[in-house]
Amino acid sequence: MKINLISDTVTKPSQGMLKAMLDAEVGDDVFKEDPTVNKLENIIAQTFGMESALFFPSGTMANQTAINLHTNPGDQLICDKYAHVYNYEGGGVSFNSGVSCKLINGERGMFTNKQVLESINPPDFYHSPKTSLVCVENTTNKGGGACWDLDEFKKIKQTCISNNLSFHLDGARIWNAIVKTEKKPKDFGLLFDSISVCLSKGLGCPSGSVLIGSKELINKAIRIRKILGGGMRQVGYLAACGVYALENNIERLSEDHLKAKEIESTLSKLSFIKKVEKVETNIVIFEIKANISSELFLNILNGKGVELISMGDNKLRLVTHLDYSNEMHKSFLKILNDLKF
Ligand SMILES: *Cc1c(COP(=O)(O)O)cnc(C)c1O
Repeated sequence: MKINLISDTVTKPSQGMLKAMLDAEVGDDVFKEDPTVNKLENIIAQTFGMESALFFPSGTMANQTAINLHTNPGDQLICDKYAHVYNYEGGGVSFNSGVSCKLINGERGMFTNKQVLESINPPDFYHSPKTSLVCVENTTNKGGGACWDLDEFKKIKQTCISNNLSFHLDGARIWNAIVKTEKKPKDFGLLFDSISVCLSKGLGCPSGSVLIGSKELINKAIRIRKILGGGMRQVGYLAACGVYALENNIERLSEDHLKAKEIESTLSKLSFIKKVEKVETNIVIFEIKANISSELFLNILNGKGVELISMGDNKLRLVTHLDYSNEMHKSFLKILNDLKF
């Protein structure tokens, strides 16, 4: 049995999702004539209580578009040192928008309003870059699936308003945070100038993200998406997966969270594990003892059909997801318990 835990992006469309694709009514989305894409965008905008939404091929493109719209070349954005926009988008912040990042040394990818205040460059001090945007991530990826406290977001929002900064949420796994913290999408919609959400992570779609914001922002986003090469034609086949996933795959995220919790509990009892980071959602980050190389550890697991990824510093990451079945889970826990070093 192959057990792939490298990411929650590895899922394949279920029979139900494939049927939704077959049944989808499509049109040319570059002319905004794809009824299924329009439907998905409307549902997501309404779900978050925001005016407008736009479908993107990837979360990276949705984030990069938001950053481009909220900044001018030479500006600086504020984000955590673990942020996806800084670490994992190929340097797009500088490539696409000519912007630098002021990194905050946060906790598990999260920071405080006080740290934001300390990171804003004085607007009249023309020697330093102009701060124009704060980017946060919920749940945090490199931070191990941690969920932000909504009250901290509210404080940062006030800081953004008083300092004329835009506020962007990289919500690649916002659904996990919503299910875990029992918040409503509208709680987030109220606070941010833009939110990107992924359909191809926990929700199990083959591809696709959506950027949400005001009508004015999204009207501008269409041009940036076109420039980045993200204008697609009969993409309703992918949007149909999104509509299907919103109806069928959100509540069940709690099952992924439960499995991750059980893996945490198993790992924390093993003698060769140094530390397991607190599991909140579907990401488990753990550190193995220094006398075992992570390469060896990964190779042994690979030999047993299990795939995880290394995060450097002897840290490993695994992510539970829709296609990680109960049977695989049982088998994986047994493999872990049987490991000997
Ligand atoms: C996956 C992810 C993205 C977007 O990634 P794509 O692979 O481009 O869809 C953005 N932010 C975070 C935190 C992610 O985990």
